[in-house]
Amino acid sequence: MEFIAHIPPAKYKRVVVIGAGFGGLKIAQKLKGSDYQVVLIDKNNYHQFQPLFYQVATSGLEPSSICFPLRKIFQNATQTYIRVAEVQSIHSERNTVSTSIGAITYDYLIIATGCDTNFFGNKNVIEHALGMKSVGEALALRNHILQNFENRTNDDEDNEKYLNIVIVGGGPTGVEIAGTLAEMRNHILPKDYPEIDFTKLKISILDNGERLLSSFSPRSSEKAKQYLEDIGVTIRLKTLVKDFDGNTAILGDGSTIISNTVIWAAGITGNSIPGISNNSIVRGNRYRVNEFNIVEGYNNIFAIGDICYQVDKEFPDGHPQVAQVAMQQGRNLAKNLKNLIDKKTMEPVTYVDLGSMATIGRNKAVVEIRSFKLYGIAAWFIWMFVHLMSLVGVKNKILIFINWFWNYITYDQSLRLIIKQKNNTKR
Ligand SMILES: Cc1cc2nc3c(=O)[nH]c(=O)nc-3n(C[C@H](O)[C@H](O)[C@H](O)COP(=O)(O)OP(=O)(O)OC[C@H]3O[C@@H](n4cnc5c(N)ncnc54)[C@H](O)[C@@H]3O)c2cc1C
Repeated sequence: MEFIAHIPPAKYKRVVVIGAGFGGLKIAQKLKGSDYQVVLIDKNNYHQFQPLFYQVATSGLEPSSICFPLRKIFQNATQTYIRVAEVQSIHSERNTVSTSIGAITYDYLIIATGCDTNFFGNKNVIEHALGMKSVGEALALRNHILQNFENRTNDDEDNEKYLNIVIVGGGPTGVEIAGTLAEMRNHILPKDYPEIDFTKLKISILDNGERLLSSFSPRSSEKAKQYLEDIGVTIRLKTLVKDFDGNTAILGDGSTIISNTVIWAAGITGNSIPGISNNSIVRGNRYRVNEFNIVEGYNNIFAIGDICYQVDKEFPDGHPQVAQVAMQQGRNLAKNLKNLIDKKTMEPVTYVDLGSMATIGRNKAVVEIRSFKLYGIAAWFIWMFVHLMSLVGVKNKILIFINWFWNYITYDQSLRLIIKQKNNTKR
């Protein structure tokens, strides 16, 4: 007999939302004060702002400035129940999810579990490469990079494994982290470690495709490449990384790179939950949904954000897996759930593409808003403004603004702390 999680009985219908990322948080916020009881379940007790993980990984920001406690966001929301738990399976025949704290029943279920790094099933790579899909992983990456420099100071001669940082994947994440690491190498690290010759530290992006930022226009890809090369990042296109044992990366052509730092930014896979029919799962481990975000084959189970696969006329191959899609779907679904109470018909979601952007470093970014393209310092300011405005909480906006401003004028940040968990012995 399964243990039942404690949630007070509802006088309203219950909406269970799995995941407090961009999509799940938006819908829970929009349903606040409505005639629904909302149960928001997440593995963590905070919402994470993933677009700035790379700045945590490179000692530019503290985790607390990009993570927001869920209980603070929902203070005084009497019909919203936060549960910090992992959802393990879905039982649609009895409208129940099994979680690490017991079973929870639902009237409507919203799956907003996002994605995880796709290591393409390679066990070595899973064990040894560093991902960046959670703030915990971003911190582990920060520790690892800083510890490497500490280790180098203890080596009599240069050990090649410390001289190469390999970034696999030339999408926005790969480009952003490579640019920031190159700036650290050029401006900060030589001051911190005067005994190390940082001209020998090689930062490379390896991508199997024909160009960086493949979801952007070729012109923007070229700009990003030029910006990165200007600050000393090596770009190797049409290059596959097949394996990595912690000390050597093996490439598609059999050649090798000696390195103990492989950052894996080469793809994502949906965080699906057992219980949803395989017939509803498509490429990328995503749930196929209709224009109302209803999961194919169900009538009271919805999926939003990265985990869902939704097509429309403009996006016949599915929407991009970005924050705006998740938020717009969350907003529309909240409206539709309220429509159901008012006995109104549901409205299809229409994704409005607000554009894409990536920053490469100080004064350098690429911004595309449909056919409008902008590069350089103006794009960089737009990138900063948009990210600042998207953050939850005034305090975090101010903290990050001060951090960025300080960093801009001093080229420095004093967050280079190696904060280890007890027994953290990884490399
Ligand atoms: C490094 C990085 C940089 C990015 N940069 C940008 C950018 O610049 N612009 C942009 O638009 N997008 C960017 N993205 C993509 C963007 O973050 C995602 O598209 C967005 O987070 C998707 O929102 P979501 O709600 O679908 O899922 P997420 O935000 O990933 O949230 C999923 C939530 O579900 C929880 N969860 C998962 N499984 C379970 C479970 N079984 N039980 C309980 N809880 C669970 C997780 O803890 C998490 O809180 C970036 C992503 C990364 C990783």
